[in-house]
Amino acid sequence: MPTGFHFKQALTDQGWQQNVSVAVSDTGYFGTLVQDDNPNNYPEIAQPVVPGMPNLHSHSFQYAMAGLSEVRRNPVDSFWSWREKMYYFAHNVSPEDLHAITAKLYMELLKGGYTEIVEFHYLHNDLDGGYYATPEELSAAILSAATRTGLSLTHLPVFYAHANFGGVAPQDAQRRFINSREQYVRLIEALKSQKTGHNLGVAPHSLRAVTEEEMNWLLELRNDMLPDCPVHIHVAEQTKEVDDSIAHSGKRSVAALMDQAPVDKAWCLIHSTHLDDDEVAAIANSGATVGLCPLTESNLGDGIFRAVDFLAADGHFGIGSDSNICTQAMQELRTLEYSQRLLHRQRNILCSEQLPNVGSYLWQKAAQGGARAAGRAIGRIAAGHRADFVEVAFDQNGIMAAVSAEAVLDFHMFSGQKADISAVYVAGARVISDGQHPQQDAIDASYVSTMQRLAQKL
Ligand SMILES: [Zn+2]
Repeated sequence: MPTGFHFKQALTDQGWQQNVSVAVSDTGYFGTLVQDDNPNNYPEIAQPVVPGMPNLHSHSFQYAMAGLSEVRRNPVDSFWSWREKMYYFAHNVSPEDLHAITAKLYMELLKGGYTEIVEFHYLHNDLDGGYYATPEELSAAILSAATRTGLSLTHLPVFYAHANFGGVAPQDAQRRFINSREQYVRLIEALKSQKTGHNLGVAPHSLRAVTEEEMNWLLELRNDMLPDCPVHIHVAEQTKEVDDSIAHSGKRSVAALMDQAPVDKAWCLIHSTHLDDDEVAAIANSGATVGLCPLTESNLGDGIFRAVDFLAADGHFGIGSDSNICTQAMQELRTLEYSQRLLHRQRNILCSEQLPNVGSYLWQKAAQGGARAAGRAIGRIAAGHRADFVEVAFDQNGIMAAVSAEAVLDFHMFSGQKADISAVYVAGARVISDGQHPQQDAIDASYVSTMQRLAQKL
């Protein structure tokens, strides 16, 4: 691994800077950035460089369904009918399948500009719902896929106990997700004992799946076993969830969550699609990150996040690929901006006076919010941060030569017709070169054979 790099153009905390040298430590962290003529003869990177993007929400097994549930089967298809299909599919995935799917997904996410994945993992049990002999059987399939592909993982074993508010008994279709408290403790113990190099956090699935009493228990367990680790939860993705929350407690979902849990900057509230004014302010004031998944939310017909109001309140957000319908960070961010344009009937909405270029603003904000949600020093090209970065390719036709550095991300995000990521580095090591992964053929082959069998289950 090189001891440093010289970037011709890099998106830093000061915006786009030219001719930046930076040392990288043995453990893969940036030293201080210096503008110079590369007196240390570091490898020079001519293409524009941006921070590696943390992906703050993924369910890796769902990648195998991407693009295969776009046929209307009901008078009105929705998130809920999609969920039925997803449950059915989840009943067929073995640990070997999960490894093959996850390795393929993570390789594609790397190519899409992501360098850290936060995996919200709720597939715990055997096909019939029984516990595996080792509780971490399926987690291990994911952790090994992350190690194999060279990206960094924050693994969130999900606690999932009920089918709806008020402790409604789980459905048979949810049998692979359900853990007793004792089994969940065994899972965390097993994962803690493995020295994988990856991080752990906890995730109450949702207010639907976890009662208030179970939430309190889980947060105490976190303090005992994984103090200060990230806490992620699905909330307010669907209007039905908000309605059910009101019917149960008289409070909307986010308001109920804020009342029952000490939400702070270690928390990430996934989706937060349906918010009233008080909830927008409450999340922003708590310091929590909102986990937006614009393409999954579009695909599932969830709704549109109140991004303008939330950013006006100085809220933090990052992006996740969630159902993994798409693996390109730029497309998630483009969809986020376009949702706001359609809603407000304006252009160039998500940007600031300091960063008026929408592409640069969205990339920087989402990278820093994703880092916050993962609880790691990542998401910035800055001293003390892990050397995760992405080279954005020049186009073949020379058009980029006429485009300023400030406009590079705008150009790729809003006009790119193909993948524009040429190289990706994690902790200073190059894991994607010329858009390719060194284990591509083997990973593709096992994914294809898995899909030949699983696609028939859809
Ligand atoms: Zn999710």
